[in-house]
Amino acid sequence: MPQNLLDFDLDGLTAWFTELGEKPFRARQVFHWMHQSGVSDFAQMTDIAKSLREKLVQQACVQAPAISYAHTSADGTRKWLFDVGVANGIETVFIPEDDRGTLCVSSQVGCALECTFCSTGRQGFNRNLTVAEIIGQLWVAHHSLKTEPNRTTGEISDRPVTNVVMMGMGEPLANFENVVTALGIMLDDHAYGLSRRRVTVSTSGLVPAMDRLAERCPVALAVSLHAPNDALRDQIVPINKKYPLRELMAACRRYLVHAPRDFITFEYVMLAGVNDQPEHARQLVELTRDVPCKFNLIPFNPFPDSGYEKPRAESMRVFRQILQDAGLVVTTRKTRGDDIDAACGQLAGKVADKSGRVMKRMHKEAA
Ligand code: SAH
Ligand code: SF4
Repeated sequence: MPQNLLDFDLDGLTAWFTELGEKPFRARQVFHWMHQSGVSDFAQMTDIAKSLREKLVQQACVQAPAISYAHTSADGTRKWLFDVGVANGIETVFIPEDDRGTLCVSSQVGCALECTFCSTGRQGFNRNLTVAEIIGQLWVAHHSLKTEPNRTTGEISDRPVTNVVMMGMGEPLANFENVVTALGIMLDDHAYGLSRRRVTVSTSGLVPAMDRLAERCPVALAVSLHAPNDALRDQIVPINKKYPLRELMAACRRYLVHAPRDFITFEYVMLAGVNDQPEHARQLVELTRDVPCKFNLIPFNPFPDSGYEKPRAESMRVFRQILQDAGLVVTTRKTRGDDIDAACGQLAGKVADKSGRVMKRMHKEAA
């Protein structure tokens, strides 16, 4: 099997070139060709000696996941479905705005964490994505968008993706090593040179991995809170049974010592009648008293047989007001791209579950 060079950060590529008997600056050249110029064909890497190019053709490849389809929504949101092997798909979404372009990247095929309101969580888990599959999503988006005018501003930019959020399919901190290597490539000036403040990892709260992320690659952090007390969070975000709110809040405070931003973003999916009542907002104010934070309220995005409903506009307004009156900064996520099922939690892709969980659930539901 040829070595996929998209699997390496610059250190990894340098080590691989050293084994080939090549100098470190050769690795840097190839890294630039791949990530900055979007070239995957070694023959086009014109400043590399022909003998080395021939060696590379024999032993290596530059392979992003294959695109099954790409679709653009009426509001300019773009979605790609990537084929990542037998019966499996993952999705990547680009959201253009006036002052930024945000790419929502997947980290796993499916997810093992079973949050009850998440369509990815309902589908089961197949496997972790490789580094090449994670960075490949940015590689495809960056190099295809670079040639097109921005749908909002009409301008052509050589840096169309300014922000990355690890909020697609999967729990990024459950695929720690590959995600950290891919994050490193996103931040590297020899590749995409994104700012740490503009790269966000979203986690449902894997406490030990949050500490490791702070040490290895501190980027902006979003924590999927979704409930203000353990009894409710145990039900809708089951990982809470392992890492309850007290531990999660302590981990957030520790993370902030290293974080590039001085706040944590708490995501909160509003589920009608479940977690959207005024008392929940008041409990949230208490819970987060010692954690510098901002809130991102996300109206639930429905999917078939979810069993949940969107919150009423009035409950969202009251909820938001209680948080704001307590001095918290609150944003409400606009739903983008829902005409192409590209909104949060609708990233369906295709998952061939390997955990046996989906079958078990189907039996349970049938019973
Ligand atoms: N696994 C990570 C990142 C992926 S999910 C995490 O849970 O944080 C990205 C965000 O979308 C999370 O906050 C998640 O809770 C939210 N989400 C999942 N399903 C949703 C749905 N149906 N409607 C709205 N948001 C949803
Ligand atoms: Fe996994 Fe995040 Fe969905 Fe929970 S919300 S099941 S952690 S992808």
